[in-house]
Amino acid sequence: LIVLALLILAPSPAPLAADEGMFPMREILKLNLRSKGLAIAPEEIFSPDRPSLIFAVVSVGATGSFVSPDGLFLTNHHVAFSGVQAASTPEKDYLTNGFLAKTRAEEIRAPGMTARITESFKDVSAEVLSAVQPGLSLADRTKAIEKKMKEIVAAAEKANPGKRAEVSEMFIGKSYVLFIYTYLKDIRLVFIPPLAIGNFGGEVDNWMWPRHTGDFSLLRAYVAPDGSPADFSPKNVPFKPKRYLKVQANGVKEGDFMFLLGYPGRTYRHSTASYLAYEEDFRMPYVADWYGRQIDIMEKAGAGNPAAELKLSARIKGLANTMKNYRGKLKGMKKVGIVASKEREEADLQKFIAADPKRKAAYGDIIEGIDKIYAEMRGRADSELVLEYLRGHPVLANLGWTVYEASVERAKPDLEREAAYMDRSWDQTKERLLLAQKNFVESADKVILKDLLVRALALKAPHRIAGLDALFKGGTGEAAMDAFIARAYKTTRLTDAKTLTELLEKSTAEIKAAKDPFITLAEALAPATLELRERQKTRKGALDSYFARLSDVREAFLGKNFIPDANSTLRLTYGRIKGYNPVDGVRFEPFTTLTGVLDKTTGAEPFITPPKVFDLAKAGDFGRFAHPGLKDIPVCMLYDADTTGGNSGSPVLNARGEMVGINFDRTYDATINDYAWSEAYSRSIAVDIRY
Ligand code: ASP
Repeated sequence: LIVLALLILAPSPAPLAADEGMFPMREILKLNLRSKGLAIAPEEIFSPDRPSLIFAVVSVGATGSFVSPDGLFLTNHHVAFSGVQAASTPEKDYLTNGFLAKTRAEEIRAPGMTARITESFKDVSAEVLSAVQPGLSLADRTKAIEKKMKEIVAAAEKANPGKRAEVSEMFIGKSYVLFIYTYLKDIRLVFIPPLAIGNFGGEVDNWMWPRHTGDFSLLRAYVAPDGSPADFSPKNVPFKPKRYLKVQANGVKEGDFMFLLGYPGRTYRHSTASYLAYEEDFRMPYVADWYGRQIDIMEKAGAGNPAAELKLSARIKGLANTMKNYRGKLKGMKKVGIVASKEREEADLQKFIAADPKRKAAYGDIIEGIDKIYAEMRGRADSELVLEYLRGHPVLANLGWTVYEASVERAKPDLEREAAYMDRSWDQTKERLLLAQKNFVESADKVILKDLLVRALALKAPHRIAGLDALFKGGTGEAAMDAFIARAYKTTRLTDAKTLTELLEKSTAEIKAAKDPFITLAEALAPATLELRERQKTRKGALDSYFARLSDVREAFLGKNFIPDANSTLRLTYGRIKGYNPVDGVRFEPFTTLTGVLDKTTGAEPFITPPKVFDLAKAGDFGRFAHPGLKDIPVCMLYDADTTGGNSGSPVLNARGEMVGINFDRTYDATINDYAWSEAYSRSIAVDIRY
């Protein structure tokens, strides 16, 4: 009895901690998730030959999950954003006002959106690495691996008609996995909340807690009547997923176990101090400033012009999202001292390597070798970034470049082309270009091009772009640039959809004969671009061999097996619903509420709330959707699972695998997750399903 009383009085055991890790499928059964709090068999989440939960999860750029047997899926408002924008006009502005299809017949196409479901995977490391023959140059080593990967993909797609295959590099230079996907191309809008809910708080609240954004949308995937993936057609029927999620409207509470499945984009946990220092000292500040400048330009162009504003909205949102993420990372890297702690780890690793002559011979050159590559890259970074942006950021420069490059690449055998020009991707590339063309706003484009030309023409030798020097040999002053730009935008024909479509199928000679100024610009950038690509392949060839060995020796040194960095393939992560202390003296609670939404509402952007929400809140008829402790509708929640970009839209699942939220963001402190996860500061944010 005494023992029993003691047991009852004893404080409940401290909740189990989350673990760092975005676990690939093959790791799930090794995780002992039952001991962490999972209440179902792990095989319910993943088992290759059963309709397990993973089959309910789709990659839609970021992530989504099926919630009905008829192809209906939930994702974030910000993930569907570009599709909603492309479906909108100033007269039918679904972005601002939201969209509701009352019947299936009213569901409309979300241009540019696709969905992929992971069907199977297989390790193909040995096959990929068999392409590496002794004596290859570093660049040829990279090319041999790329070619082998393409061959594996081609063979897999042949063996699995209608499916899409990808080979993904898991550990750099060391392991590769072939994934087979079902690939759906007819995606439609079903329910999109108004911007005032879906993007409540806008950029002010982005990457922040406390958060009150209703960042969700409902879409539906369609297929041909025979069930095969097909382009949009009115004859198509809803896709039948192998598995869909059960929505658990009772939600979760603080301390509950949770997990999520999704397609996290990129992390750099296995990288080196020299790479992180390059990011911190050079690349991220440069990119954040340039994105800030582009946003200013576009906002000016959109002011007082609703059509231009709508066209630019998705780009502005994307740029602002990355800019703030980088600023958060820069702040966090400094605060946590990430580079310094990596340097310490590397110094200890070097001692470990040096302590054994055999190890020294096998691994002694790695850190220094990698450092050298990043130092070389840093020296050229200015020039390389400007070159890349010149081809990509002004819309017309991008169209000109793609038309030019398509003519060169499409003349080669399929397997030798850059990926975007291979037959299997060509339709999407063309669609992407036509969507970009629709979003062209001349006033913004001109200023962006001019800014980049100014940067490019100010580069110092030997990193100048020779082709541009030749193009501007008459003078690189302000007047020469203005004249070039004025003439280019006046005479180009790339703004016409029919012309663009025709040019995309022409030979290089025909294209040159068209004498479009943006194709001339592309020709001027081509030699430097080809050199850069060659250099990048040389770097990759060297890094592959260093990183493959680094991973081996670090595992031996740290005595653990690593999980591969995120690479846009399907992963699981788990943790608990949990708040944290962002700074001394401040506690962040894990839930926000509807009352908080109303409190934050000022009536001015981005804090506007539709009057109906006020009415509903006042009526207070929340039924079972109220949080029992808070006696209010929970809106957003925090947890310590390990996520990154691409996990947007991931279903947050309770211990029984039922959906209780939709992941959409991280806190400002957690932006450095990509380099270093910590239970102290890594918190992700979901919309609570009850909202
Ligand atoms: N909001 C994020 C994104 O844009 C999600 C994240 O990075 O955590 O992808």
